[in-house]
Amino acid sequence: MVDLKGQYHKIKTEVDAGIQEVLDTTAFINGPAVKEFQSDFEKYLGVKHVIPCANGTDALQIAMMALNLKPGDEVITASFTYVATAEVIGLLGLTPILVDVNPDTYDIDLDAVEKQITSKTKAIVPVHLFGQCANIERLITLAKKYKLFVIEDVAQAIGADYTFSNGTTAKAGTIGTVGCTSFFPSKNLGCYGDGGAIYTNDDDLAKKLRMIAHHGQSVQYVHDVLGVNSRLDTIQAAILKVKLKHLDEYAAARNKVADLYDKAFAGNKNLITPKRSPQSTHVFHQYTLQLVNLDRSKLREQLAERGIASMVYYPIPLHHQKAFSSDRFQDKDFPVTLHLCSHVLSLPMHTELDEETVNYITKTVLELIG
Ligand SMILES: *Cc1c(COP(=O)(O)O)cnc(C)c1O
Repeated sequence: MVDLKGQYHKIKTEVDAGIQEVLDTTAFINGPAVKEFQSDFEKYLGVKHVIPCANGTDALQIAMMALNLKPGDEVITASFTYVATAEVIGLLGLTPILVDVNPDTYDIDLDAVEKQITSKTKAIVPVHLFGQCANIERLITLAKKYKLFVIEDVAQAIGADYTFSNGTTAKAGTIGTVGCTSFFPSKNLGCYGDGGAIYTNDDDLAKKLRMIAHHGQSVQYVHDVLGVNSRLDTIQAAILKVKLKHLDEYAAARNKVADLYDKAFAGNKNLITPKRSPQSTHVFHQYTLQLVNLDRSKLREQLAERGIASMVYYPIPLHHQKAFSSDRFQDKDFPVTLHLCSHVLSLPMHTELDEETVNYITKTVLELIG
């Protein structure tokens, strides 16, 4: 699905020098590269504050802690997403309220969101799934109407641009109350281990986020609130500093692959290619097809026999997971999520895919489905 080795080899000299510098200075925790990456990333995103942390799941957890959400508060998110989004809601004693998604863009269905809003609702967590922005403008309007926080899960959409109806643009994750992202190796801006970050334009919130990520400490050995220990380590920051310079180039390479897939599959009655939102650029974290009248398991097996990887993101809706089971969630309210879980298929998508390989993949897929 990804080729991290090929990508590393192209930037090896710079990455190795960055890592070596950390080893030479032994500044493993909060070394200079952390601040440098933070500042470069703030400039890239056009956001006032980036708070680096240990991973994307921590980013979501720290955001919810900093917003003073209390046990019993309800947080609305999509049933069709990676588990981390909903997991931290439950972990903090908050109540995850799962809703359906839109069939074209896979983002949270705002009509379903509005139906679930109660006096206990405190926040909405839109997920910019597979690499393009959710309908964030309408979501912000809804959040303002009900005075809700917006916690953007931007783990899959680092670098995507959203265009508002007045023509202005902003990077995914910089629009809501707070944005949370991941630098897991296979993400669009991946480090070589775990990493994550939180972004916000709110000065007070930034202070609080930083404090919570650092044991709730305001001054050394003074702990004002309960926090966690969540840091981006210096070696990872040194790697990210190098990779950030290539991020737009990486998105362009992914888009080139997506265009080739789109072109090859256009008009095929058994394949629905990913829809592009008119408000957002797509950074193609995943290229996800919907299969029509095809045996997905058999197709995956046949692809594997021909050396082609494929994945199902995600096979089980969150509202079917034991960890999130609740009488409040009924299948009749999740028609799109249920359909997607049994019909989506993601094809290899990364920065090192050449045209010849993509052609082999598309030719094979089309042959297999007849
Ligand atoms: C990867 C991912 C996360 C969690 O990131 P980690 O760094 O693995 O903790 C959260 N949400 C979504 C949508 C993701 O894809």
